[in-house]
Amino acid sequence: MDFIDLKTQQTKIKETLNTNLQKVLSHCQYILGPEVKELENRLASYVGVKHAIGCASGTDALLMALMAYNVGPGDAIFTSPFTFIATAEVISLLGATPVFVDIDPRTFNIDPAKLEQAILALKDNNPSFYPLPMVNVERRTSNIKLAPRCVIPVDLFGLPADYDAILAIASKHDLFVIEDAAQSFGAEYKGKKTCSFGNIACTSFFPAKPFGCYGDGGMCFTNDDNLAAALDSIHVHGKGIHKYDNVRIGINGRLDTLQAAILLAKFEIFPEEIELRQHAAQRYTDLLTNTNFEHRTLNIEHSSLVTPYIPAGYKSIWAQYSILAKDEKHRLDLMKRLQENKIPTAIYYPTPLHLQTAFSVLGYKKGDLPVSEDCSERIFSLPMHPYLTEKDQIYITEIINK
Ligand SMILES: *Cc1c(COP(=O)(O)O)cnc(C)c1O
Repeated sequence: MDFIDLKTQQTKIKETLNTNLQKVLSHCQYILGPEVKELENRLASYVGVKHAIGCASGTDALLMALMAYNVGPGDAIFTSPFTFIATAEVISLLGATPVFVDIDPRTFNIDPAKLEQAILALKDNNPSFYPLPMVNVERRTSNIKLAPRCVIPVDLFGLPADYDAILAIASKHDLFVIEDAAQSFGAEYKGKKTCSFGNIACTSFFPAKPFGCYGDGGMCFTNDDNLAAALDSIHVHGKGIHKYDNVRIGINGRLDTLQAAILLAKFEIFPEEIELRQHAAQRYTDLLTNTNFEHRTLNIEHSSLVTPYIPAGYKSIWAQYSILAKDEKHRLDLMKRLQENKIPTAIYYPTPLHLQTAFSVLGYKKGDLPVSEDCSERIFSLPMHPYLTEKDQIYITEIINK
């Protein structure tokens, strides 16, 4: 059994895939060929946003978004500690400082109430109100006080963050918002598609994401003409009127034509795959809630296993189907039992970012962000993809329910 099955999908798109790839091989425009523009146009209109800029990865998409706002030393960027390293890595790469805000235990996404506490604590320079990072003064020429600039909400496991609440707080405190939609392309929040929230939204086409290519790729989305122009320049070495006129420091961040051609083939069956993912997730939940599972409550529930919670008005794309065990030992037992029956599982994420060695310079300690820490000890993910069969899901859930 596969954790994510990409083979079945490939057999379904084989013909279009071959035609699309052959077209690229005949026109030979491997860099910024017509397929890139075509994909940008199609995805921008799908998401309902004016501009889309293809890029080399989801990480580059996030980096470019921060670069478009000239983020740098002294800037505080608020984000979730319960995410993939890339979300916060790009902040540090630009010399800015990540400020980690704990998650809602039901959705695993950034908690808007805590976001506001963290912003107020930072403005007041008062870590007793909310845990704040240490600024590494030694490495600076002067002691720069951090200025709140931006929030990066993450749509974890394909479930959108609470954008109404987050955007209201961001606007009140004059922060811009970058949506990390790396895991959520195709999901919806109150009737709107993800990749349409905030000032710039970023997604990833890494093969294992819900909409993945056969290598690395990503995309930025925005309604703002000036930001779109900046992103377009940044992803080609800060180009101006032409590629050898360089008006800013940029990166080599283009999406390959071949990857765009692959995504165009996959896009044809994507709507169907979204529905298949909904069915597979619902089947898991039905098969698990019959027994000892409980739907999530606000309290961090330790008495039973917990299935995913999808608030009213949200549609997840189910990048992962993640459940919480009672505790770390229970998780280990369950994962071992599944492994003995040849069922692959994974832990996203075993260490919240504020406790990662790479961020030790920020001075966070265990206990600072207790919900993320608790989830990282109990969470694990089951095989999830559009072509998961009911038979396999019965087999998997019977082992868990035993
Ligand atoms: C995968 C991922 C990224 C990075 O995307 P890449 O294409 O792998 O660079 C960023 N943020 C989150 C939440 C992700 O899951």
